[in-house]
Amino acid sequence: MSASKTVGSVDAMELIDTVQRSNDKLRYALHAARMGLWEWDLLANSVIWSPETEAIFGVPEGQFKGTYEAYAAFIPPDWLDRINVKVTDFLNEASDVSEILYQHPIVRGDGVDTWVEVRGTLTKDAAGRAASMAGICADISDRIRQEQERQNLEVKLQHAQKMEAIGQLAGGVAHDFNNILTAILGNGDIAMSALDEHSPPRIAAALEQIVKSAQRAAALTRQLLAFSRRQVTQPRTVNLNKTIDDLEPMLHRLLPENITINRKSTSTLPSVFIDPTQVEQIVMNLAVNARDAMSNGGILTLYTGVATLDKTYADDHPEVLPGKYVMLSVSDSGKGMDKETLSRIYEPFFTTKELGLGTGLGLATVYGIVKQNNGHISVYSEPGSGTVFRVYFPFPPDTAKEDVPEIQHRTDLTGTETILVAEDDDLIRGLVETQLSSAGYNVITAANGEEANEKYAHHEGHIDLLLTDVIMPDMNGRVLADTLLEKQPNIKVLFISGYTANIIANHGVQDAGVAFLEKPFTLKMLLTKIKGLLNQGLQE
Ligand code: ADP
Ligand code: MG
Repeated sequence: MSASKTVGSVDAMELIDTVQRSNDKLRYALHAARMGLWEWDLLANSVIWSPETEAIFGVPEGQFKGTYEAYAAFIPPDWLDRINVKVTDFLNEASDVSEILYQHPIVRGDGVDTWVEVRGTLTKDAAGRAASMAGICADISDRIRQEQERQNLEVKLQHAQKMEAIGQLAGGVAHDFNNILTAILGNGDIAMSALDEHSPPRIAAALEQIVKSAQRAAALTRQLLAFSRRQVTQPRTVNLNKTIDDLEPMLHRLLPENITINRKSTSTLPSVFIDPTQVEQIVMNLAVNARDAMSNGGILTLYTGVATLDKTYADDHPEVLPGKYVMLSVSDSGKGMDKETLSRIYEPFFTTKELGLGTGLGLATVYGIVKQNNGHISVYSEPGSGTVFRVYFPFPPDTAKEDVPEIQHRTDLTGTETILVAEDDDLIRGLVETQLSSAGYNVITAANGEEANEKYAHHEGHIDLLLTDVIMPDMNGRVLADTLLEKQPNIKVLFISGYTANIIANHGVQDAGVAFLEKPFTLKMLLTKIKGLLNQGLQE
């Protein structure tokens, strides 16, 4: 009897030991998984938390007060109602669902903000009433932070895509527009040069207006192209201080007398590698906006200096490489901007100005130029306390070519050489033919690359220069030029285009011996470019 009792009690001891060990295992596992346990006796309203749950809620071990209300006290007020409703609904519908899962922020006992996920199951008593709940909880702040970061990135990406899409649209429109403007300006030139002292003055005035309006339209198109980053630029080593000095007279004309211009700079400013007309455009666009923001007068400050964008800054702005930059800042004491305006200023066509006063292209253009030059732009503004724009340009590569003044061209722009013109647009082809012939050149025209090839093959005598549109159906200008250059390496090539779409120019820097003329161009621009190319051959 006693023996069997002994055996029985050894069994019981073993059993307790096994249970103890598996309990320990569970505890370690939950601890390793950072998972807390909780139990809620609904009838007695008593809540028990495991030490891990207390740790998640930032409560010293054993200090949790043990009621639902004590748990609810960790939930921020704006979340509390939602959670209460969720839990009550669950308990009321408990016959259908027996599991609950929800997340919410908490303010921990030690004051730290975090997020928890709670999971629980319901147990019913014999009468089928909800009697108790038990479950686990975990700190999910890492997951929430990653989710928020992903969403922020998504918003940034969408913004970038929108800018890119509008840029492409703008570039496409500008391309067609440039063809039309070239025809208007060119024919205007021809008509103007046909005027003499017998021509009615009204006609002369009207022609002048036509040309002027077309030039304004051309300037607008150029802005669009700069935004869409398809403008061919001629970067060189530029000292920003000098460029701004040269701009000052224009700035004085632009700004009313009640605005003071304040100029500051470090004496030794490293050069930057950029097309100087782009710097001018940045300064002018920013200055005009500053003027508009200071309708009652104020101070416009232009500052140039060296600035370091550190790693912390670069981490916040993924497109920025940490390092030293040449900085240009343009600040005003004007009316400033609110957050909503600030978030949209670089969008093309975004303007807060009255119809006719703003195009919404100023900052979009600045943005496009800065990006094209691998730079960075930042803005600081508050309503009523003015605005600071800072533009950062990278230090130039050592190989950058020096700022050499362009070779002075001879005033005689006529010539007798033979020029092959390939252009698919009838208007432009006709115009160029008229312009070149009247300057004395021998002109052969072709409406596409294939025809140009054929005419080249059948032409008796020397062809000195190929003047070709870049974008033509079937064979683009680059391919045509390459074909002819292979047959005749000394042929000069002049591309004309409304935009380049990187076909001839990589980052806007052109090959030697090849020139580019942007549409719309004037007669003088065309003849000067051709003369320059033909002369280049003679000097070599
Ligand atoms: P626009 O000047 O034609 O409106 P921009 O692209 O140059 O177009 O500017 C967009 C908008 O940004 C402006 O309409 C204005 O609301 C705001 N803005 C730009 N610069 C400033 C500034 N210096 N101060 C206050 N607001 C500005
Ligand atoms: Mg503007």
